[in-house]
Amino acid sequence: MVQNVLDYLEASAASCPQKTACEDLEDSYTYAEVLHNARRIGSALLEELPQNAPVPVLMEKEAWTLNVFMGAVCAGCFYTLVEPELPAERIGSILETLNAQVLVTSRRRERQIQKTGFTGKILFAEDLVQHEADERGLAKRRTHACDTDPLYAIFTSGSTGAPKGVVVCHRSVIDFTEHFTAIFGFEREDVIGGQAPFDFDVSVKDIYPAMKVGATLEVIPKKFFSVPKKLLDFLDDRKVTSLTWAVSALCIISMLKGFRYKVPSSIRRVMFSGEVMPVKHLNYWREYLPEALYVNLYGPTEITCNCTYYRIDKDQVLSEDAQLPVGEAFPNERVFLLDEEDQLVREAGRLGEICVVGTALALGYYRNEEKTRQVFVQNPLNKCYPELMYRTGDLGRYDEQGDLYYVTRKDFQIKHMGHRIELGEIEAAFQSLQGIERVCCIYDEPNTKIIGFYVGTLEAKEIIRRLTEKLPRFMIPNIFHKVEYMPVTKNGKIDRKSLMEDYQKQQRHG
Ligand code: AMP
Repeated sequence: MVQNVLDYLEASAASCPQKTACEDLEDSYTYAEVLHNARRIGSALLEELPQNAPVPVLMEKEAWTLNVFMGAVCAGCFYTLVEPELPAERIGSILETLNAQVLVTSRRRERQIQKTGFTGKILFAEDLVQHEADERGLAKRRTHACDTDPLYAIFTSGSTGAPKGVVVCHRSVIDFTEHFTAIFGFEREDVIGGQAPFDFDVSVKDIYPAMKVGATLEVIPKKFFSVPKKLLDFLDDRKVTSLTWAVSALCIISMLKGFRYKVPSSIRRVMFSGEVMPVKHLNYWREYLPEALYVNLYGPTEITCNCTYYRIDKDQVLSEDAQLPVGEAFPNERVFLLDEEDQLVREAGRLGEICVVGTALALGYYRNEEKTRQVFVQNPLNKCYPELMYRTGDLGRYDEQGDLYYVTRKDFQIKHMGHRIELGEIEAAFQSLQGIERVCCIYDEPNTKIIGFYVGTLEAKEIIRRLTEKLPRFMIPNIFHKVEYMPVTKNGKIDRKSLMEDYQKQQRHG
């Protein structure tokens, strides 16, 4: 029985040692090499840290970093990728939240770390890998390990102020990986094109499925996502078969009509999450890669990657204003809706908060009991024994067929002119208009105005005319603001904060 993600790595290193486990533009590591490096790094780390200690890793998104992650795991610890591009203050606050004793980085980053105020020990991965493998030390840590031990912590994007570190254990990742690979048919021959940064949990769906089946993970350089031709060349040259990407990343290719340049024909699986996938963009992908499997994946980091999935049928005709369901729950998870009185919502059309129960739940927020207790709560439907439930903060509804739909974030539900409105609903209608590429609606509460930001060729007058056919008057944005491109956060979601800041700046300067 798999109890530790190292079981995946060891099994692949035994069955296909010379197979490429991960590579990027410069480096390539076989499964045997990753295991070898991880054991050495782990042996060095276990001299520094007790079991289950955090190992912050301040390194780039590159294949080598995965060796370091596995080193932390060999030492019986858990890793956190700290993105080097973050402001020093934020890095400092992540390290403080972790109460980190060490920080693993590469030598060339030494000066940057001084600015973060970190007072712990700085370890260089180049040195750690020189350490001799300590067989006895490693074995001892493994014997003391439990599958409920933490594997990684991922820090949320910070729109909430202080960073929260979502800690996820081995068991949750193993459980997810087993179902994910079986349901979507991952195989050793797969070549996974890794888009997600390693401090975003979409990357977990690249790393562990690859490791379980012995597939290759191609770590796509971040910079390629602003140069679609290079991105398409990369996917084609490396014969990538599988994409699990943020919605915005897929939209980069469709917005720029990238497939006119090249279609990477080896792609056979395209999965997406993080935001609502505009059907217009999905249809573009389906047109050029009609044989591929397309899957809408839904869920927050706190429930380990995703809790529901929806497969789009090959022959399914999707109109541009259709919305995709988020589908059914992954096995071993229970996903349901609760209304404001914490009663189960069963009927079609009524909104409820999406709640999740099961092994998939994260352990909580690291060293933040208060925030953990707010959202990881006793299932109010269960009065008999302790059963943790996660409140996603997302509102969903069922349709007449019983399919679950994501509607909006709870915080995006507004009260405007006396009406309760979901900004997501306005966005769906707005997005479906011809001549509109990407949209985002934000409520300017102090001025009681809905602002419709968009990329596209239409002017406000025409948008209003066409939206009037789809939405009640009170849902039509009061202001339309055309932007050249939609800013995205590094997690690949539309950056609402930056949109609003730019808008306000422009207003101030006339
Ligand atoms: P993160 O924890 O960064 O993965 O963000 C999770 C949030 O992204 C969810 O709570 C939803 O609000 C949103 N989200 C994730 N997947 C989808 C999806 N398939 N459709 C719509 N929204 C999504």
